[in-house]
Amino acid sequence: QGSAEISIKDIDQLANNSFPLCMRHLFEKLREDHHLKHGGRMQLGLFLKGVGLKLEDALAFWKAEFSHKVGTERFDKEYAYGIRHNYGKEGKRTDYTPYSCQKIISSTPGVGDHHGCPYRHFSEDNLRAALSKMGVDGHIMDDIMQKVQTRHYQLACTLTFEAIHAISCDTGVNHPNQYFVESQKALEM
Ligand code: SF4
Repeated sequence: QGSAEISIKDIDQLANNSFPLCMRHLFEKLREDHHLKHGGRMQLGLFLKGVGLKLEDALAFWKAEFSHKVGTERFDKEYAYGIRHNYGKEGKRTDYTPYSCQKIISSTPGVGDHHGCPYRHFSEDNLRAALSKMGVDGHIMDDIMQKVQTRHYQLACTLTFEAIHAISCDTGVNHPNQYFVESQKALEM
């Protein structure tokens, strides 16, 4: 995963251009609700670490959102630990790695959760709406839905990547952070 650093001021643009659907969804929900449950905080938090958000910036980013909902004091008490933990600064001090597609696809989000893989966990209507917001339509939409119906979620994500970036992605999508790196590469071309 990339060693580049990203800064908070670029994060909305990066989300819009280069986050795969699973992370766009979490990011949008966080901006909307100023809150994410544990599974979402882990999935998005580790992804952001992987794209190069430094610990201090991660704390500032999550705090700015969560403070709207729970206040700064409760954020510091209840949520800051989890973020430092993801960066290996608490507990066993393991440097946790961002989740792969396989791990995300096999997760089991419950009511009120926003983590997981939209190709696997969204209803067909919600998935179509989300893809259409990303600019996917026509026969590509049908091709993607067909991959979803045959449970080829990563291939569905790969087709989305190819449609949005107008290039082919021969390796296929196997990790959200790989999607991000490939996207940034494609946009620089
Ligand atoms: Fe995210 Fe992977 Fe699902 Fe794409 S296939 S939305 S990168 S989990």
